[in-house]
Amino acid sequence: MPPQKKEEKRCDFPGCKNIAERSLPRKKAEEVLGSLEGSGRRVHLCKEHYKKYRKATKKERELERMGW
Ligand SMILES: [Zn+2]
Repeated sequence: MPPQKKEEKRCDFPGCKNIAERSLPRKKAEEVLGSLEGSGRRVHLCKEHYKKYRKATKKERELERMGW
């Protein structure tokens, strides 16, 4: 068994097994993506789910700019 020095974090999105690439404040991420797995104040997201998060937050900002 090779020692696992580098800890690989998994995406906290339920059912997602991708390697996490980003960590976000749980509260913010859950506002967009719904309840997430894991514990602690931060959640870890894979590239795919981070993209989803960014997209959703970007849309919000755009709507604000348009005066919604
Ligand atoms: Zn994911």
